[in-house]
Amino acid sequence: MLNIVLFGPPGAGKGTQAEKLIAKYNLCHLSTGDIFRANIKGETELGKLAKSYMDKGELVPDQVTISMLEAEVEKNPKAQGFIFDGFPRTTPQANALANFLTSKGTSISVMLALDVKEEELIKRLLLRGADSGRADDKDENIIANRIKVYNEQTAVVADFYAAEGKFEKINGVGSKDEIFSRLCNAVEKYRVESN
Ligand code: ADP
Repeated sequence: MLNIVLFGPPGAGKGTQAEKLIAKYNLCHLSTGDIFRANIKGETELGKLAKSYMDKGELVPDQVTISMLEAEVEKNPKAQGFIFDGFPRTTPQANALANFLTSKGTSISVMLALDVKEEELIKRLLLRGADSGRADDKDENIIANRIKVYNEQTAVVADFYAAEGKFEKINGVGSKDEIFSRLCNAVEKYRVESN
């Protein structure tokens, strides 16, 4: 199995590149942000809970997020591999994912970390907010908090994968195709090992 963690701060381009990667490598895309937004739209209990955190740019509590993610993996028993997009975002989430995948006889092949500087992130998020309808992209204070939370709680997750020799930093500035080809080059290095 090829299991990829697509990593990077808000606005780094994870969603865009995930779409291209799933098409090329035939993977199942699990975006925790998308799943939360679907629950908000469907007005589920999980959606109501998630919204109260997302509206402030805070993380949804680990236990809720981990249970939801595991349930989504279970729903796709035939998948040839997964792209985890927006997960893990904390060290406890990374530990939980490792244990869960071990119990399934698999593991993360590589973390691909999109690297984009803060100024560019804010520009991209405000642009996305102007036409996506995402409330958390419209407000500069919420954006600032998401980046702060990323720096304080999420950035450290890279160390978890680096310690296992599974970390690849990718320049996230350039055309979509340029960035995609950088990602594919990195994937190829790990694909052989995971076969
Ligand atoms: P972005 O990467 O642009 O912030 P996402 O769609 O990945 O967008 O996430 C939107 C929001 O959903 C986050 O700010 C957070 O509140 C919540 N969220 C998504 N993934 C997680 C996660 N793994 N753990 C906790 N909260 C999460």
